[in-house]
Amino acid sequence: MPEERTQHSEDSKGRTGPEDLRGSVATFDRVEEGATAIATLSTKNHEVFESRVRDRSHVCLACGQASVHRFLYRKNGCDILRCEQCGLGRAETMGFDPESYYTSDYFSGERPDGYADYIGTENILRREFAGTVEFIRKFRASGRLLDVGCAYGFFLHEAKRFFDVSGIELAEDAAEHCRRSGLNVFTGQADETLLGRLGTTDVIVLLDVIEHLPSPRDTIALLVNHLDHGGIIVITTGDFGSLYSRVAGAHWRLMTPPQHLWFFSQASMQAMATSLGLEVEHLDHPWKVVPLSLISFQLTRMSGLRPKRIAISNRLGLPVNLFDAMRVVLRKPSR
Ligand SMILES: [Zn+2]
Repeated sequence: MPEERTQHSEDSKGRTGPEDLRGSVATFDRVEEGATAIATLSTKNHEVFESRVRDRSHVCLACGQASVHRFLYRKNGCDILRCEQCGLGRAETMGFDPESYYTSDYFSGERPDGYADYIGTENILRREFAGTVEFIRKFRASGRLLDVGCAYGFFLHEAKRFFDVSGIELAEDAAEHCRRSGLNVFTGQADETLLGRLGTTDVIVLLDVIEHLPSPRDTIALLVNHLDHGGIIVITTGDFGSLYSRVAGAHWRLMTPPQHLWFFSQASMQAMATSLGLEVEHLDHPWKVVPLSLISFQLTRMSGLRPKRIAISNRLGLPVNLFDAMRVVLRKPSR
């Protein structure tokens, strides 16, 4: 059957690079020549063709290769592409302005891709963060700690029992909330000026932050300069190579561009760390106690309804592990 043959040749070609892209276009042209053959162009073939021509070449910020970035799908008006070398996902977006985006609305359920009620779930979040502090202390028991994207300072309050803490936060309201509670928190981006004022540190944490940064590689490189030798960077983010992410595709719970711009896999995290002179000391997919309100918020969003704020369930949390989020400890080698 001609249809099967066309399908087969496209499938067997599509996975190895730009030369095959040309092959698939040629197949398409040939099929289009004959009026009867047009009928053999199934919707699936057409989609495969459409997505091939949207592949593009980028220098990958994780693996550093100029590589084919496979077009996967569109979500919220953004093209989602994946580096063929290391698996890093990227959202291509136009004119996204983080400074006007991360306001108090983001943390209070006013944005469908934000938090349901961040402040209302403080108790659960702090219990969770206390566990994160315990985890970090296995790698570094004390010293100076910097939280990049510290939100309302819940993690910093847990960490300050063992560390000399400071934070950086883009959302003015959240940073102000931190300062009122006695924390040393700066408003702004983690840039040279701000980091210069903070000096060097022993531990830097980015908890569910790296996927939001306009250029995570540049930011991490800057942070490495302000990290003492032997110090660690702790990152939590989604795992784009996880089974759940692969199966759910555009419907993955963390596929929320333009809020999330980068989708790391284990390989892409490893590649970026190595190229910045860091060692991957630990990588796992931890269990997490999640507020019931956030679970119902995300489920409602995935069902396509507009999420509403829910008064109940802020105090309740459930241990959850979808194995689609990773926790990484990167170490700057001692001199
Ligand atoms: Zn790559």
